[in-house]
Amino acid sequence: MRIESRKMQISSWEEAEALAGRLDAEDDLAEFRGKFHLPRDTNGKFKTYMCGNSLGLMPRVTTQRLQQHLETWGQTGVEGHFHGKEAWLTIEDATSTLSSNIVGAKSPLEVVYMNTLTVNIHLMMVAFYRPKGERFKVLIEQKAFPSDDYAVQAQVKFHGHDPESAIIRLRPREGESTLRTEDILGTIERERDSLALVFFPGVQYLTGQVLPMAAIAETASRHSIPVGFDLAHAVGNIEVFLHDWGVDFAVWCSYKYLNAGPGAVSGVFLHEKHAHNKELPRLAGWWGYDRKSRFQMNETFIPQPGAYGFQLSNPPVLASVPIVSSLELFEEAGITNIRRKSEKLTLYLETLLLKFVGSEIEMLTPLNPEERGNQISIQLKRANLQKVQSFLESVGVVCDIREPDVLRISPVPLYSTFHDVFSVVKCLSDAIQKQGLHN
Ligand SMILES: *Cc1c(COP(=O)(O)O)cnc(C)c1O
Repeated sequence: MRIESRKMQISSWEEAEALAGRLDAEDDLAEFRGKFHLPRDTNGKFKTYMCGNSLGLMPRVTTQRLQQHLETWGQTGVEGHFHGKEAWLTIEDATSTLSSNIVGAKSPLEVVYMNTLTVNIHLMMVAFYRPKGERFKVLIEQKAFPSDDYAVQAQVKFHGHDPESAIIRLRPREGESTLRTEDILGTIERERDSLALVFFPGVQYLTGQVLPMAAIAETASRHSIPVGFDLAHAVGNIEVFLHDWGVDFAVWCSYKYLNAGPGAVSGVFLHEKHAHNKELPRLAGWWGYDRKSRFQMNETFIPQPGAYGFQLSNPPVLASVPIVSSLELFEEAGITNIRRKSEKLTLYLETLLLKFVGSEIEMLTPLNPEERGNQISIQLKRANLQKVQSFLESVGVVCDIREPDVLRISPVPLYSTFHDVFSVVKCLSDAIQKQGLHN
């Protein structure tokens, strides 16, 4: 049994489990698991949770922090706007500041939490999708998350264009599951005179592929094409450097890897180069108004600089507090340490999958650690997805399926152990071997 920097070698289940034990023992982030509520079955037995890419688990501290705000509300009513640790009037400062490191913002001015993800795609497209003459097309991926695709279609139609001609959907090459960098950049180059916006995910939700964000931003910017990213599966999962990459805008939700709870408020990044551009079209609201004079209730709209100027309403405090308590854990652990553990966890997962069920699956996720986050997506070659899923459920493994044959497994460095990963692959192997599972 050897652990090289990139490769792990395992020849039996016993060796695999022993290696998990060693890796868990030397895990610097091991203490963080205890800071989360871990789901259990009706007998009180812990489940093996591999679904943080869909809904992150709840930090224990969140209960107490929410309770504090409920008490403030109950005991002081409107006073809560002005007093307390996160006074409601400026609660967006707490979430912005705590996120700067995680998204590679230069200053908190570049980040704001508001609304929910799809709403923010629309708001940012209002600012950055400004078709003019021959430049009216949007470049997205063929397998974009449906909500993103619907939003782009709606925006294109809103400007009087036909989605058929105005949306370029880039697909992987025949027989491949992920997009090639040269194909993405080549398309931008080729369509440079027709593109009004380039909009890609940071991490593709189905395949787990990390898109080459820096190169996409560089190429699009060179031709003065605005570029935005949907980081729903990227923030809290991989390291991103949005400011340095020159990304115009990015949006993400905070209930996946950010563990901020169902429907929690979404994040927006707006590059500093646009911070003082009052000409950017925006759907304005009073919370985006200059803070110092907001309550003078003037008619003329004066935006706050940066992402803050795009806020519409006063923030949903009870949906923002869990972001603060969760981001504090990220700060304590450090995003670089989180990513380092994540790479190991996923390499361990990959190694076990290839060793023990390799002939039964197709890997959709790139094998290169730099081209993936923590998620590995596999396609079942013969086994029936529904039956595999029911078996996994029956033994307490929670992971996510996409019809007709894709299983997404997502070990999360803040709360998953190497032994969890071992259990998942062992159960998956049992599931596939069970009689009657084949179609
Ligand atoms: C999860 C996810 C969404 C969800 O959108 P909501 O507006 O939060 O419901 C949208 N886009 C992508 C890429 C996602 O991964």
